[in-house]
Amino acid sequence: MKKINLAIALGATCAGCDVAILDLNEKILEVFDLVEFKFWPTAMDFKLDDLEKLKDKEVDVGIYHGAIRTTEDVKIAKILRQKSKVVVAFGACANFGGIPSLANMPYEQNMFDLVYKDVPSMDNPENTVPLTSVKIDDVELTLPGILENADALEEIIDVDYFVPGCPPMVPLIEQVIEVLKVFAKKGELPPKGAVIAGTKTLCDECGRTKPEKISFKEFISPQEVEEMDPDLCLLPQGIICLGPATRAGCDGLCTKMNVGCRGCLGPTDKVKDHGLKMISAITSLLEVDEEEEMTEEQLDKIVEKIPDPLGTFYRFTYGKSLIYKLHSEEKVI
Ligand code: SF4
Repeated sequence: MKKINLAIALGATCAGCDVAILDLNEKILEVFDLVEFKFWPTAMDFKLDDLEKLKDKEVDVGIYHGAIRTTEDVKIAKILRQKSKVVVAFGACANFGGIPSLANMPYEQNMFDLVYKDVPSMDNPENTVPLTSVKIDDVELTLPGILENADALEEIIDVDYFVPGCPPMVPLIEQVIEVLKVFAKKGELPPKGAVIAGTKTLCDECGRTKPEKISFKEFISPQEVEEMDPDLCLLPQGIICLGPATRAGCDGLCTKMNVGCRGCLGPTDKVKDHGLKMISAITSLLEVDEEEEMTEEQLDKIVEKIPDPLGTFYRFTYGKSLIYKLHSEEKVI
């Protein structure tokens, strides 16, 4: 069996996606039998130069994780595309912009100033900010520019396959390995655009019992629950769970631990905007009878119990949200 040439490149990432691959434990030996690594700078001593020197399409499968946050990320993504027959967006950041894309929210304040100067915990009396260029031996080198917004990979290059998750869980990575095996043996790949994860929602596969009519009067954090029912759906217990709008494939890792789904696998194919879908689901679950008798202030109080609405409903998918699309434009600082 001919080995597959594999490249794993990264952009704005915490590198958790790399760690997830290593989480395969002994199964990683199967990966080494299956692929020839042409580029994986996190795990081996590769430089970008090594990727650039490859012939066009010499890489069979190029995996990219992380959002597109800097001009360097754009450059790496474009080189990966040029060198790879197929490109896989791996992880929530590459798929949807992920957590970095939460900074795309149109704040009144410039995000760069907020992070480096004005954040309350900042101790930076000399207003030191990242350099935009450095001089080495009298040669001025321009450093990567930070883009105004953090974007999903698909906004920059053509993407063939999608593996969501923050990070993609071992069962999903095992599915990717199966895809690679078929590719190595028969040269066959899934249809372009395939998402390697479930097709249903997490709710459809969740083992918790969902009452026929779900309703709750207030939102609470898991740590505030006096006695959690381990078998009952989290929503009637007042815990926000994004299971109704989120793609299955994680085997309910969070919900099994009494933690509401945060939505890292993003929406199913049927959902256009992950956060809006969930906001509409949650609001329809508030006690309707009493809602009609409630004052605006009382309703506000319930909603205020959600400490961070943007981070709750768009934690991983703001970069693909309709509201972001309405205001986005690319600028370089
Ligand atoms: Fe399970 Fe969450 Fe769906 Fe309830 S809302 S059934 S806890 S995934």
